[in-house]
Amino acid sequence: MLQQLFDRLREIYPRLVEIRRDLHMYPEISFEEVETPKKIARFLTELGLEVRTGVGGRGVVGILRGEKPGKTVALRADFDALPIQDEKEVPYRSRIPGKMHACGHDLHTAALLGVAAVLSEVKEQLAGTVVFIHQFAEELAPGGAKPMIEDGCLDGVDVIYGAHVWAGLPYGTVGFCEGYAMAAADAFEIEVTGRGGHGAQPHLTVDPLVTASQLVVNLQNIVSRRVDPLKSAVVTVGSFHSGEAFNVIPHSAHLKGTVRTFDEDVRSMVEEWIGQVVKGTCEQMGATAKYEYRRGYPALYNHVEETRRVKRLAEQLFGTGKVTNMEPVMGGEDFAYYLQKVPGTFFFVGGGNPELDAVYPHHHPKFDVDERAMLVIGQLFITAVLDYWADGKLKVEESLNRFKAQ
Ligand SMILES: [Zn+2]
Ligand SMILES: [Zn+2]
Repeated sequence: MLQQLFDRLREIYPRLVEIRRDLHMYPEISFEEVETPKKIARFLTELGLEVRTGVGGRGVVGILRGEKPGKTVALRADFDALPIQDEKEVPYRSRIPGKMHACGHDLHTAALLGVAAVLSEVKEQLAGTVVFIHQFAEELAPGGAKPMIEDGCLDGVDVIYGAHVWAGLPYGTVGFCEGYAMAAADAFEIEVTGRGGHGAQPHLTVDPLVTASQLVVNLQNIVSRRVDPLKSAVVTVGSFHSGEAFNVIPHSAHLKGTVRTFDEDVRSMVEEWIGQVVKGTCEQMGATAKYEYRRGYPALYNHVEETRRVKRLAEQLFGTGKVTNMEPVMGGEDFAYYLQKVPGTFFFVGGGNPELDAVYPHHHPKFDVDERAMLVIGQLFITAVLDYWADGKLKVEESLNRFKAQ
């Protein structure tokens, strides 16, 4: 079965490249996706799947019910692009000025459509249901995952898998990270208000610039003195604006920053501690402050059992030398919301290839990846689904070798 499905995936690969390149040429950025979901829905409908559009706003969900009863596995691909000018010299370069698929979501989409195409052909042999979640707006908080879940895309789902093509990994490799893999990415803003005046008469003012400077220093104590040293947290002030003239004490100062954490309790404590530091520092200096904390995506937690299972499948498919353990990254990803609801894992598929000039990082104007990563994603998704239905007892090597021997 596995070999037959993989052969079909290879046969339709040129079509997947076509789909990926079409999406690449006509990118649509987060919350502005119109044609992309239409193209996806059309493809899934032609396959005979049950298709829901407008899920949570702009999402598309395709449901493939096998003819035998079984569990429900969800597979997710995101489809939004970025507000970046494409600077690659390739025939499929973006035709839309200032917009580009610089994160590989076009490739995720085409790979998942390939999986839907291949599995729908053997519907009568499938012992379970597959839910294909095509998600809008991953790149921009509040993102598309949350509204899609609220709109029922995970209803009845037992497990979920997601993949991200990764430019930093060479093509042919797959990376896994157990437990916390990506950080919660939050933002904060503080406005310190004092009483402005003449630079020569500080005694008649409340200096917000000095207060805010003190505040930046005091905020450093949160990570160094209050967060458990065995837990991770980042508090970064990235913007500080106050005053215009050399001899004027300004009226206010503006700070902006970001907080990155993994543990939910650390996240909440940091939010609270920043508030305490703001209050304490300003009171001491006689200034007042407005503090706003905006939560981004939560941390992405890869369930241990599912991660190990899919990793073992990847080792059987591609060889142990092709599978690596990844360090957690402090970037955010709204796949985290799905994993808060159901078990599953999110893995990284190598897309780097110097021969194709696929050497630039994600969100770079020259970003590109080796398109064959679609085959890797497709094969691993298919195997993960069949193995889940087989309660983790799918005979991967046997299934492949038997066909190889013929
Ligand atoms: Zn991205
Ligand atoms: Zn991405």
